[in-house]
Amino acid sequence: MYYGAVKTCDVANGTGVRVSLFVSGCTNHCEGCFQPETWSFTYGRKYTQETKEEILRALEPDYIQGLTVLGGEPFELENQPEVADLVTAVRERFPGKDIWCYTGFVLEEDLAPGGRRFGEYTEQLLAGLTVLVDGRFEQDKKNLGLAFRGSSNQRLIDMEASRRAGRVVCLEL
Ligand code: SF4
Repeated sequence: MYYGAVKTCDVANGTGVRVSLFVSGCTNHCEGCFQPETWSFTYGRKYTQETKEEILRALEPDYIQGLTVLGGEPFELENQPEVADLVTAVRERFPGKDIWCYTGFVLEEDLAPGGRRFGEYTEQLLAGLTVLVDGRFEQDKKNLGLAFRGSSNQRLIDMEASRRAGRVVCLEL
């Protein structure tokens, strides 16, 4: 996996102060995407064990609320093994912190068994998430007033509440 950036003090992609990993590679190619350079699977630098350790170290301060993984597309099958591994490691080392992930795919369609981005690591990855922001960016539904998402079709899914309820439960932010 490649990544474009690690931000260690991000307040734009989830609640509180966060560490964010921008992975590379996206096949969604949404019209109006604000970072098309990240569509390439080899954009930026190679993600290594050192990158993972850097992220885990950056999560240590008490003022860091959690990790956000975005892109690019964390749920491309090429990226899922390393993203799932990172999410699992953060869950184990920092059980009090939350984990957000952004995807252009739709949870019940693309990331469910039989879906076009359901693979060996999908359930592991989803199981570690606190919030999943799903859906493509749709230019005609763009709304700058929405919290933590760009267009009104995108959902802030409360993954813990959804697991408990057995259906999709969204956050009202
Ligand atoms: S999913 Fe995100 S990174 Fe991919 S094209 Fe759409 S807006 Fe851009």
